[in-house]
Amino acid sequence: MTEPLLEVEDLKVHFPVGDEWQKRDRRMVKAVDGVSLSLQRGEVLALAGESGCGKTTLGRSIVGLDKPTKGTIKFKGKAINKLSTEERKVFRQKMQMVFQDPFDSMNPRKTAFEMIAQPLLLNNIVSKTELLPEVLRLFEIVGLSPSKSYLSRSRYHLSGGERQRLSLARSISVKQEIIVADEPVSALDISIQGQVLSLLRQLQKDFQISYIFISHDLSVVRSLADRVIIMYLGQVVEEGTTEEIFKSPKHPYTLALLAAHPIPDPVLSRARPRIVLTGDVPSPINLPSGCRFHMRCPIAESVCSEKQPAFMKFGKSHSVACHFADQIDSKMDNLT
Ligand code: SF4
Repeated sequence: MTEPLLEVEDLKVHFPVGDEWQKRDRRMVKAVDGVSLSLQRGEVLALAGESGCGKTTLGRSIVGLDKPTKGTIKFKGKAINKLSTEERKVFRQKMQMVFQDPFDSMNPRKTAFEMIAQPLLLNNIVSKTELLPEVLRLFEIVGLSPSKSYLSRSRYHLSGGERQRLSLARSISVKQEIIVADEPVSALDISIQGQVLSLLRQLQKDFQISYIFISHDLSVVRSLADRVIIMYLGQVVEEGTTEEIFKSPKHPYTLALLAAHPIPDPVLSRARPRIVLTGDVPSPINLPSGCRFHMRCPIAESVCSEKQPAFMKFGKSHSVACHFADQIDSKMDNLT
């Protein structure tokens, strides 16, 4: 395997909560707590889990929107915090975050044309005479009409799908290598979702873009991702190829997430154990001891509240943080 494009090692993002004057007693939200991952060129890595599991904070800290408390982020083998100011500027251009609805990230005073033209000029990608043809070319790639009326529209006059296409055009305009897409289709109608997902796939193929794809929707994850990371309360609980996660999940939390999602395969659907999660996700301020999932886990034993599980490996790419991952099938059979 070639050197990863991106490597994250033992990343922690902790935020203080409470008033500034309570400094001594301030408690910490451990939004991301010791996550490691790698991303290859042209790969789609999905981060999945319930709301509050830390997947968005992890994505934001990778692109530099949230400051990590600890850990290392490496781009092409070089730690970002060791880059010179110039190198860091180049690195930032190689990465962009695409939001659920890019409305807030778009300047209300700029037209669609200006939103694409600005990064092209700022980064000296084209001269002024080449600008219009290049903007039109990018519009065409992402499926936006290159008509004059479209070019002069502001963010208020674009639909959700059009705003998402425009934000993808911005990403490819400066030849970004990594896109961190945070629930990029969840606010769109089903028919538009399919179109934006096909566009993401096409851009990945044509421009060798790598994605960190954040989503709570496992059917979307299954259709797009090469590999999947399942997160719970700031930590990775299972990681594997999309096939390993969907066909032979080994963490009870992954099984519960999958049970809550209908799949278009009746055989697999019938064979899948039915786990219904009870209770809410515990507070990330006051984390449970041992395995963080033990209060909701249907197969928990006393060791689970005492000892944090280490990763158990199954083959080259599948890792599971559960004391009983190697006995998951028999444990699940005993439940029914
Ligand atoms: Fe459940 Fe224990 Fe495994 Fe955690 S370690 S997922 S509590 S069985």
